[in-house]
Amino acid sequence: MLKKILYIIGLILILGLLILGFKKTNLNSFIDIVESRTFDLRQTIMINANVKRVNEDIVIVAIDDASYEYILDNYGEWPLTRDIYAKMIEYLETEQPKIIAFDLMFVKSLKSKPDADKALVDAMKKYKNVYTAMNFDNQPEELRKPAQLSDTLAIDVENHSDKINFDDITFTNCRAILADILNSTANVGIINVSRADDGILRKMPMFALYHGKFYPHLGLKVGLDYLKTTENQNIDKFVVDKNSHLLLGDRKVYLDTDGSAILNWYGPSGTYTYIPMYKLIKKIKGEETDLNYSFKNKIIYFGTTAASLFDIKTVPVGKIYPGVEVQATYVNNLIDNNFITKAGKQVTTLVSVILAIITVLFVMRIPSAVIASISTVAIYMGYVIFSYYAMKISDLWIELIYPLLAVILAFITSLIIKYLIKSRDFEQQYKLATTDGLTDLYNHRYFQDQMKMNVEHSKRYETNFSLIIIDIDFFKKFNDTFGHQSGDAVLRQVAQILKRNVRATDIVCRYGGEEMSIILPNAGKEEAITTAEKICSLVAQKPFKLNNDKETNVTISLGVSTYPFDGETPSDLIEAADKRLYYAKNNGRNQVGQEK
Ligand code: GH3
Ligand code: MG
Ligand code: MG
Repeated sequence: MLKKILYIIGLILILGLLILGFKKTNLNSFIDIVESRTFDLRQTIMINANVKRVNEDIVIVAIDDASYEYILDNYGEWPLTRDIYAKMIEYLETEQPKIIAFDLMFVKSLKSKPDADKALVDAMKKYKNVYTAMNFDNQPEELRKPAQLSDTLAIDVENHSDKINFDDITFTNCRAILADILNSTANVGIINVSRADDGILRKMPMFALYHGKFYPHLGLKVGLDYLKTTENQNIDKFVVDKNSHLLLGDRKVYLDTDGSAILNWYGPSGTYTYIPMYKLIKKIKGEETDLNYSFKNKIIYFGTTAASLFDIKTVPVGKIYPGVEVQATYVNNLIDNNFITKAGKQVTTLVSVILAIITVLFVMRIPSAVIASISTVAIYMGYVIFSYYAMKISDLWIELIYPLLAVILAFITSLIIKYLIKSRDFEQQYKLATTDGLTDLYNHRYFQDQMKMNVEHSKRYETNFSLIIIDIDFFKKFNDTFGHQSGDAVLRQVAQILKRNVRATDIVCRYGGEEMSIILPNAGKEEAITTAEKICSLVAQKPFKLNNDKETNVTISLGVSTYPFDGETPSDLIEAADKRLYYAKNNGRNQVGQEK
């Protein structure tokens, strides 16, 4: 248990370091793009499952391909003279819509006609629910002098979040619209969008900075105006709290690090009710048209969808998506209060750690690597499904890629650790099964196995090998005199001498009792006898430490046999060595036994 806890702590440390490491490299931006793609996928699945419905109060009047053609046929030019818009406003107002918003910019152009422009300005002055757009950019000053914007257009923003950096929505220049509009109404908002590194539009700014002041987005103005009438919300101050939420009355809109809100999408292009603008023009001209739509209480968004007018974006739910529908989605998110909230980095880290720990516990506990892999995939898939429901139910974007990396790392690390533990256990057991506890020499069973192997090996390669059997002299008496503890100490010390004075390839075993044996692969008779004699004299010379710190001398007797001269089976070889050991004993001990 303690071992496991230590492994888990180690794993968490490794993961933490890795995540920190990722943050400091380009890999982080790559991971962000992949993460964003998983967001797109979740949005697409939700749309296919028909989870969200557009707000029926929003209708789009589209300058579509048919309308563009109609305008060219009937007026011979684009843009349309502004009095036509004035007339459409007059007509629509008779139906009492909530808001008329133009996702179009009434800029001063060569084709401007002063009377027509004045008609539009007058209509905007007359009706307080008509909104129009301007756009910030960073064109050089020498190309276009930045417009002076009236203070009535600006808003107060108080930011308490240190995660938000407004650099991306700070602009130095502005595509100004007709000065008469700018000076006569506050109903002008920006229509800037924000694109991610991969070019996909997922976010929209709530406001942008221009020459030190904040200016609201058209969608924010339209949405708040709508909420003023439907929910009595009256917001004139904009506070971003320390958790990066823009407070709008009792609503909170999560702002990403660049100060933009993340859009929740409703479907591929065409989800909103579209009215082709030519039908409205026909209506005001008194021409026959099948337009029988009631605009009462609607938010009417004017915008272009015609291919030749180039207002097409790539969004998570489609490659071809008209800008006006992006604006509608933005207002829709605002009034239905379902912008996406992104879970913070702390949540991602916590989730990654929890998933990693679960993975470790599973992999450690499951013996089969295949089942452990399947379980790991299942754990992560469970999390993916959870993340889908978090978005579906709570508009929450919890990250998938860092947790995926955490799970993969946890899986690999714990497999390796498991393998290491297994091989160490195996080693330990092997050692237990083959060695003698007292002397740390190989045990009798191992000795017998090695004898067999050496016989076979020498037979096949036609080489020699030798065996030395060693017996301590008068050991019974030694035990009686100094006690068994000292006897054990002497056994250990003799074992040490044997091990230290043979080749690394020689196999030193405890044969049994106070008898030891050495197998010398590839060693002939002469060589074995020399080794035996060397050991014999080393033992005789060495003072052995006893348990009571005193020292004494011990001698050994040895018997040598060699394959194939003394026998061709282990038992013949052991018998031959034993016989010579017996000679040594009979001949006065402390020697290597020889036949007379
Ligand atoms: P000899 O010179 O003829 O070999 O005399 P010996 O007394 O050594 O005779 P023998 O080899 O028959 O005696 C073996 C003795 O070794 C008996 C036993 O007390 C002792 N012995 C065997 N195993 C151990 C052990 O693990 N520890 C200790 N302390 N003594 C052991
Ligand atoms: Mg003996
Ligand atoms: Mg003995």
